[in-house]
Amino acid sequence: MSTSNHYDVIIIGSGAGGGTLAYQLAPSGKRILLLERGGYLPREKDNWDAKSVFVESKYRAKETWYDKDGNAFLPGIQYYVGGNTKVYGAALLRFRAQDFGEVRHHGGISPAWPLSYQDFEPYYTKAEQLYHVHGQRGVDPTEGPASAPYRHPPVSHAPRIQELFDDFKRLGHHPFPLPLGILLDEAEGKALHTSACVRCAAFDGFPCLVNGKADAQVICVDPALEHSNVELLTGAYVERLETNAPGRVVTKVIVTRDGAEEQYSADIVVVSCGAVNSAALLLRSANEKHPGGLANSSDVVGRHYMRHNCSAFMAVSKDPNPTVFQKTLALNDYYFRSDDWDYPLGEIQMLGKSDGEMLKGEASGWAVWKPEFALDYLAEHSIDFWLQSEDLPHPDNRVTINRDGQIVLSIHETNLEGHKRLTAKLKGMLGDIGLHDQLMHRSLYLGKDIPIGGTAHQAGTVRFGRDPKTSALDVNCKAHDLDNLYVVDASFFVSIAAVNPSLTIIANALRVGDHLLERLGL
Ligand SMILES: Cc1cc2nc3c(=O)[nH]c(=O)nc-3n(C[C@H](O)[C@H](O)[C@H](O)COP(=O)(O)OP(=O)(O)OC[C@H]3O[C@@H](n4cnc5c(N)ncnc54)[C@H](O)[C@@H]3O)c2cc1C
Ligand code: SF4
Repeated sequence: MSTSNHYDVIIIGSGAGGGTLAYQLAPSGKRILLLERGGYLPREKDNWDAKSVFVESKYRAKETWYDKDGNAFLPGIQYYVGGNTKVYGAALLRFRAQDFGEVRHHGGISPAWPLSYQDFEPYYTKAEQLYHVHGQRGVDPTEGPASAPYRHPPVSHAPRIQELFDDFKRLGHHPFPLPLGILLDEAEGKALHTSACVRCAAFDGFPCLVNGKADAQVICVDPALEHSNVELLTGAYVERLETNAPGRVVTKVIVTRDGAEEQYSADIVVVSCGAVNSAALLLRSANEKHPGGLANSSDVVGRHYMRHNCSAFMAVSKDPNPTVFQKTLALNDYYFRSDDWDYPLGEIQMLGKSDGEMLKGEASGWAVWKPEFALDYLAEHSIDFWLQSEDLPHPDNRVTINRDGQIVLSIHETNLEGHKRLTAKLKGMLGDIGLHDQLMHRSLYLGKDIPIGGTAHQAGTVRFGRDPKTSALDVNCKAHDLDNLYVVDASFFVSIAAVNPSLTIIANALRVGDHLLERLGL
């Protein structure tokens, strides 16, 4: 192999995990190659067009996966430099301290992580600073201790959302400003001339046309590439990893690019393709020494897939809701329990504002529900919520590869009762918070093939742990079975808590980055 194809570190995948790791390692001067199957997400007006984004799914991967019965579905997944963060809603929350321990749910046990909140805390702080998180400490009673305040003030509420905030408080709840990764400078609810973000309506699920969202490309990959020792290859699909004869070292990374095979190698190989694709890559890389897939002597690779029990809902406000930027409020009063239930229910957040085009895409459902509400009335009066509860890591919820090398995702729903109760709690409050008494599912946000196509929060398929019999990765996210293979995307999760996953992925990538710098002697 030509020495020019040999690197100190190869990182496969440039999303929240891989992009952040590249950023962390870039100043080391080590030769780093970032392999990304996608290209740059095109910057064009359609980035902000609800019909293109949600109804036509313009930016979603044109890829078919299969469920356990062989039915085809379209995963809600994006392949670009920056990964799924190009379209994420940038709600960047820490796990609660208790989430790192064992938590008893109605549907079973959410297992303990091998590390504690305190181990992650310094990296959470770094991650928040790196990704420009705007938030406020001390308002959400469930948050863990933090070693520094947020660097940026919370994103201000629009008047209708401030009313909602006040209504929740009046009911004895503790709403708090949703921590958001956003490049926003604002005054009196308006973006300043210096601000990259213009506080538009396209925050959640859309790409940002003006690079105002703190995504992994803008925050990490672009700055990493300013270092001459970092290279990025786009359109570089990693087919498989090969090992040396004893099976302890990854010696080749086999890539398909422009229809041709290319080979690369590195002292350290880091897989960060997203939880489903990372598991698939390891399974595809089975060889004589690793017959069940690379790093899989424990047989956990692909198993324990989690993605949250979540729902997007729209309620109709009695007063018009002219809010443009809606995603500024969250509520954790039911995170651990409620007055009538001793198990966790989950988190309530605001979602990006429904748009007339999105409602048209979902119109048949609305017509059945409230034929008296015209679509334009709904668009003017809608208020949108995201409800998120913990699903549990079940070994049979798993990623496998079929005979044709395609991805198969097997799902059995877990722990649904808490989510049902969370939905009922919100429903029960609607009248008191100035809303009509019905909640309507917003299916387009989650993708047309929910529940199985709702892969946005995928995690857990290459879990870390101390015991090589029950985990694939050690606490540094190195494969137990190999000396130079790491995984730094959402695959390492042991449980998923009830908060959005990215801040924990980012914090972990920074943590593993520190370990790798030490390993590289820096
Ligand atoms: C609509 C939407 C809204 C979301 N909102 C939020 C939110 O508000 N807050 C939050 O915390 N999270 C949110 N998420 C989830 C968040 O985007 C993901 O949790 C996060 O991006 C996962 O990071 P990752 O590094 O695991 O994978 P990804 O970001 O998916 O990155 C994986 C990368 O690997 C590349 N890749 C895959 N396979 C290969 C291969 N074989 N060879 C080469 N490259 C490969 C992919 O193209 C991709 O770039 C949202 C997601 C979606 C879709
Ligand atoms: S709200 Fe800001 S970050 Fe979001 S799409 Fe609009 S300009 Fe971009």
